[in-house]
Amino acid sequence: MRLVLLGAPGSGKGTQSQLMMRHYGIPQVSTGDLLREAVAKGTALGKAAKAAMDAGKLVDDSIVLGMIRQRLARRDARKGFILDGFPRNVAQADALGTLLEELGQPLDAVVLMKVRDKVLFQRLAGRRTCRRCAQVFNVFTNPPPKGGCKGGQAHDLYQRPDDNEQTIGRRLEVYAAQTRPLVAYYRKRGLLRQVDAEGELDVVEMRLEQALGRGSSPGKAASRAVKKAVKKAVKKVVKKAAAAVRSRVKPTPLQRARRKATKVVRKAGKARKKVVRKAVKTARKAVSKLAR
Ligand code: AMP
Repeated sequence: MRLVLLGAPGSGKGTQSQLMMRHYGIPQVSTGDLLREAVAKGTALGKAAKAAMDAGKLVDDSIVLGMIRQRLARRDARKGFILDGFPRNVAQADALGTLLEELGQPLDAVVLMKVRDKVLFQRLAGRRTCRRCAQVFNVFTNPPPKGGCKGGQAHDLYQRPDDNEQTIGRRLEVYAAQTRPLVAYYRKRGLLRQVDAEGELDVVEMRLEQALGRGSSPGKAASRAVKKAVKKAVKKVVKKAAAAVRSRVKPTPLQRARRKATKVVRKAGKARKKVVRKAVKTARKAVSKLAR
């Protein structure tokens, strides 16, 4: 399957492409991720792209097209791909058409992920990514679970530099001016499908599959969602039980120290009571002696 996910920043293209990637075994090709990687590595390409990215503008077409050409030439893209964040203007869409014609791999569909502007804004402003495991969360709608990262550690979150209020506004303007015309572009070519991309991840995933006619009936998707929920609950119970067994079998140094301290306190309490009892007994004896 060769697919373009089209939509404004924050419409969930990245999240849904990752789900689909796992599902269909085809790579997600995100120009945003490729550019961020180049910036992080400090390559010449990354240096050339950084200023435009920080300002919420589009990076030069020649840079992005070169990257896409290289990425689609890789072996894993032969059986299909999900383009996320590309194309972003008509020139890029034309260039993509030419490239895919050369490769003999035409697009199967372009899916527009529809989300209202106010929801987009909230999603982008609340978005946080974990440095360690790269999972994406939202501080308002999907906060990270405590101790949910590798090895039971807390997620190490950061906010993308272009997710600040001013840059978000700029990116949404750029989308409206340069990327939205692609809706008509692909509709004219009979490739466009549309999906309501607001709501729970599972629900949006189900709508996407239906839009693509991937044979996923609401029943099938619902039973998959149930299986997923059961798997999650079982995992939680197993984790809890394992922690309980671990704590019984081999106490941690802190638990050992706590137990030792409790014993010492108990012993001291008993000794104190013994001394008091003895003193009371002696005093009683002395009093009864005096009374006689
Ligand atoms: P994204 O992660 O898709 O939101 O992209 C982050 C930033 O990377 C964008 O705001 C642009 O500056 C740049 N970028 C990503 N994809 C493209 C593209 N196809 N054309 C031009 N710039 C892009």
